[in-house]
Amino acid sequence: MGTVDTLLGDITAVAADAIVNAANTSLLGGGGVDGAIHRAAGPELLAECRALRGCETGQAKLTKGYRLPARYVIHTPGPIWRGGGQNEAALLAACYRSCMELAAEHGCKTVAFPSISTGVYRFPLELAAPIAVRTVREGLQRHPGIERVTFVCFSQAVKDAYDGALSSTG
Ligand code: ADP
Repeated sequence: MGTVDTLLGDITAVAADAIVNAANTSLLGGGGVDGAIHRAAGPELLAECRALRGCETGQAKLTKGYRLPARYVIHTPGPIWRGGGQNEAALLAACYRSCMELAAEHGCKTVAFPSISTGVYRFPLELAAPIAVRTVREGLQRHPGIERVTFVCFSQAVKDAYDGALSSTG
């Protein structure tokens, strides 16, 4: 089965087969990691995203990576945290599951994820990290062609949360 690791850094610099974008449902760009990915990929990415006509929360759509070192970008809108009673946990898991499926369909061996929903969307990091780790591990079992998944953490606090989830859930 493929392996999971964490990296402190900027996902736009990662040369994985696919990097994941924590997008919004319009797919037309935004702040945070979404803005950084669009800036680094160049305007062709926005043009391709426009033609996709949005994406529902928990689902995912794939584009080329353009000027990024990654071959593909997988765009997934995470749930906005509304207190936990609005199916947020299941929707966050659906994001990771959808991305792993699309990556496998496109023959990706390496995939890099940001910490979906834990920025502007305010999903608590200590709840999000174990969901991410569990769902990615399930995806690695289901999709043996994926060899490595990296959680790219933009701060040490995020890395600590994912490292903790990786070690406490075996
Ligand atoms: P969301 O709207 O899904 O919460 P954000 O982009 O606001 O998405 O935040 C998601 C996570 O991505 C946060 O941990 C944020 O610090 C992180 N992040 C922001 N820029 C980058 C980047 N260039 N590379 C990796 N992670 C990033």
